[in-house]
Amino acid sequence: MRIATGGILHETNTFAEGTTPLEAFVGEGSRQKLLVGEEILKAFSGVGTATGGFIAVADELGFELAPLIRTFPQPSGIVEQDAYEHLADMMIEKLEQAMPVDGVLLDLHGAMVTEELEDAEGDLLARVRSTVGPDIPIVTTLDLHANITPAMTAAADVLVGYDTYPHVDCMERGVEAARILADTIGGRIRPVSGFAQVDMLIGPPKQCTLVSPMKDVLELVQDIETRPGIISVTFAGGFPFSDIRDAGMSVVAHADGDEALAQDTAEEIAKYVWSLREAFRLELTPLHEAIRFAIESGEGPVILADGSDNPGGGAPCDGTVMLEALIEAEAPRATVAIIADPEAVAEAIAAGVGSQVTLKVGGKTDNRHGRPLGLTGYVKLISDGNYVNRGPMMTGLPTAMGRSVVFVVGEVEVVLTEQRIQPFDMEALRSLGIEPTQRLLIGLKSAVHFRADYGDIAAEIFEIDTPGVHNPDVTRYDYKHLRRPMWPLDDV
Ligand SMILES: [Zn+2]
Repeated sequence: MRIATGGILHETNTFAEGTTPLEAFVGEGSRQKLLVGEEILKAFSGVGTATGGFIAVADELGFELAPLIRTFPQPSGIVEQDAYEHLADMMIEKLEQAMPVDGVLLDLHGAMVTEELEDAEGDLLARVRSTVGPDIPIVTTLDLHANITPAMTAAADVLVGYDTYPHVDCMERGVEAARILADTIGGRIRPVSGFAQVDMLIGPPKQCTLVSPMKDVLELVQDIETRPGIISVTFAGGFPFSDIRDAGMSVVAHADGDEALAQDTAEEIAKYVWSLREAFRLELTPLHEAIRFAIESGEGPVILADGSDNPGGGAPCDGTVMLEALIEAEAPRATVAIIADPEAVAEAIAAGVGSQVTLKVGGKTDNRHGRPLGLTGYVKLISDGNYVNRGPMMTGLPTAMGRSVVFVVGEVEVVLTEQRIQPFDMEALRSLGIEPTQRLLIGLKSAVHFRADYGDIAAEIFEIDTPGVHNPDVTRYDYKHLRRPMWPLDDV
């Protein structure tokens, strides 16, 4: 059995400044840069990703993987059409070379938007389908933040979305997808699809599956997956910062040969989610309130989740609003991770370890994440910025922050980096000599993912209300392409 595998992954924040060029997918600074052919198997074997799951099942069941291309840069603005076409052409060309294949196993995100395509994955899957023909099964994994469309469900036989947010089950879902593909090729199952959209647009914090109401939705989904005749069910929270018609929540259910069962199941879950909508209302904490709480309690670490500047959702990661407030409050034992500012990093490195220097820090990408701050501080540490995730999410994946500096202003430590990185794994700090358990306040440019690793050590967690292109309050955005009516934007 020979299975083609690959992935072009991007989560597109259409509100973010600027477009995403090819360089973001292939360059050295890319989070998971373009890998071709065998490089993919070498890089992802045993790594907590969907592709890592595919490789594990291939080893177990003894099927051959024909690796195409795979790339997953840090989320950012609209993907330039040329970049997408180049990558899609490359993938299709590799697929043609790999044929004949018995099946296709893709690792996709599901919220990629290009200059000309609202639904890039729908287009890519259709291209893969027309290359392999109608009879070769195509199975793809998707992120929980996929904006799933009818075009995606039409082109692929099976979609397997991550169940969890934080995404701690990427590898597990990869394993599930690969097993479903093997069973389909072997004729043991005949997957059919049901699909339902829920007209709800929900910001990241309320999509966290560790707490209700998403916890309850996940429990229902997993319960339904044990029913006879059901192969797999995906509930996608959607990515609200892609302004496209099909943004928002959706359900895909796969049954074994029974189309009515698949459709009824998808609609049952969609109705349940809709009935819970009031429980999905957002609560954010004013920044100063959260800082005051930490200082008064004196018990740390208190985590400030600055989701509005989360690079993992396309924000610039150089926002200064939280940093400025911590410095003003003279917050003791505070750490801010991270501010991506290659210019400030270069100046700090030029000044050298142990020196006092005045830097213009952050706020340089746009005017929506605070202003650049003139800060005088101490260069405590300089690093190459490389670490490997040790926490439960994407375990084993190497991460490159670029050259990095710990810059200390008063009692506030600022992690300055060259790359935009979501510091969801504690290794981001520990690799720089910062012990998270010893800090009173830790401000993270992360919406929810940090909970996987920090959940157990946090004395308290606040989702703070700061400005930005990843602020979770969807009522603050001017949607132009989204279908309406949509809760909670409209009175429905
Ligand atoms: Zn996601």
